[in-house]
Amino acid sequence: MLSYRHAFHAGNFADVLKHSVLVHTLDYMAQKDKSLRIVDTHAGAGGYSLDSRQPIKNREIDNGLRQLWLRTDLPPLLERYRDVIRGFNKQQALSFYPGSPLLAQTLSRPQDRLYFHELHSTDHRLLKEALGNDKRIKVLDEDGMKGLQALLPPPDRRALVLIDPSYEIKKDYQDVVQQLIKAWRRFPTGTFALWYPVVTRQRIDEMERALVRSGIKNIQLFESGIAPDSEEHGMTASGMIVINPPWTLWKEMETALPLLTEWLSNGEGHFRQLQLVAE
Ligand code: SAM
Repeated sequence: MLSYRHAFHAGNFADVLKHSVLVHTLDYMAQKDKSLRIVDTHAGAGGYSLDSRQPIKNREIDNGLRQLWLRTDLPPLLERYRDVIRGFNKQQALSFYPGSPLLAQTLSRPQDRLYFHELHSTDHRLLKEALGNDKRIKVLDEDGMKGLQALLPPPDRRALVLIDPSYEIKKDYQDVVQQLIKAWRRFPTGTFALWYPVVTRQRIDEMERALVRSGIKNIQLFESGIAPDSEEHGMTASGMIVINPPWTLWKEMETALPLLTEWLSNGEGHFRQLQLVAE
């Protein structure tokens, strides 16, 4: 039984990090003409109206994207992310937040193919509605990590995989890493982006160790936290682990990550940028 609904969290500090890295990576990978296979293993509902009842309950976007929305001093990676989201909104009002599927649909080309997995029946239906009739896209109601294995390697040998689970049970942390390692072995030159929440630091340390031991090369990690680690306050930080990242990402994040963290945490946050495994 799935209880997580991304609508409660859309546009929060974790989405800002996740989606700004995603937008940069999509832009980068679209520079080569060859077709790209985009796989989103945990897609969510596609997009989120900020006027609907769910996000209002938590208003997480108020401490997330809304803090950056009108700034005139954003570094390029964050400015590009904010501008892509502005494209879904009228002028400067922020009334709609596109999730990863709509971002990928918008930033992909006619030759690309997109695969979205979503198991929650309501979000699956909403996702299909949000994406409309787009012949490049398949929306699947199967387990995303199993579905991913069947999609690799891609025929044109280019793939971007976003792995963004809801981590509803503790075992998810281990399972997702094992499945990611398996997927990488099927296609070692693919770009894989794994999102993680820091709720219990030990679980993330274990994830990192498993990846370092896995034999996978070229892994970068970007983390932004709004409060010190704590087992009592839910998610205090989140991160993106990127295998075979765009070579441009590291430098862009060196500028963006400290600012993003400062702005979203009122100066009380922390960040990490690591080359977890060398090229
Ligand atoms: N990637 C989305 C975005 O960035 O806009 C948000 C995804 S949300 C964090 C995780 C989603 O995964 C939820 O909608 C949940 O219903 C779905 N989910 C949970 N377990 C799944 C599974 N095994 N396979 C596919 N989807 C799953």
